[in-house]
Amino acid sequence: MAASIPPFSLLRNYAATTARAFVTVKVKPSYTISSTTLHHLPSGSRRLQFYASATNNEEAAARAAAANADSGAPTIFDKIIAKEIPSSIVYEDEKVLAFRDIDPQAPVHVLVIPKFRDGLTQLGKAEARHGEILGQLLYAAKIVAEKEGILDGFRVVINNGSDACQSVYHLHLHVLGGRQMKWPPG
Ligand code: AMP
Repeated sequence: MAASIPPFSLLRNYAATTARAFVTVKVKPSYTISSTTLHHLPSGSRRLQFYASATNNEEAAARAAAANADSGAPTIFDKIIAKEIPSSIVYEDEKVLAFRDIDPQAPVHVLVIPKFRDGLTQLGKAEARHGEILGQLLYAAKIVAEKEGILDGFRVVINNGSDACQSVYHLHLHVLGGRQMKWPPG
């Protein structure tokens, strides 16, 4: 089967892209699986293997991204803020930008980010001085939910660090909704 690198992986972020260059077949925008693995499994095992590989891939990408977390290197979000690459913007003000996730996990999946990272590569780096922007991000999440018509039920997620599968080291809130959410989360 011909090798291909998923276009989503190319956008995701620099470190993650490096990690994902080893996978071979695009199955879904964010899910990749080795064609070798796929062909040598009995068909009944493929779904399970696919899930496991997708999960491992997310975790591997997160670990690769974490290796660069404190380097100060720009992320893909800097290009989005600078409008050097396209994004579907849902809300914007002086301090905050909200745009649709390229790999949506729900009918509504919007990322809310500070325009100025100011050391907030992840929530775990927050200091007292970040209190105002953290509040602004949460309030922006509410505005996004309102604009998207999901005020009656939505979820705000922050993945912090590789154990939580954070893949972009620029603080971001995921605003998810438009479907029934399950609990506990995965
Ligand atoms: P996390 O895994 O919590 O760090 O979330 C990073 C999110 O950024 C993922 O849900 C990706 O789908 C999303 N993402 C990566 N690159 C882009 C992009 N170019 N435009 C929109 N969303 C992106």
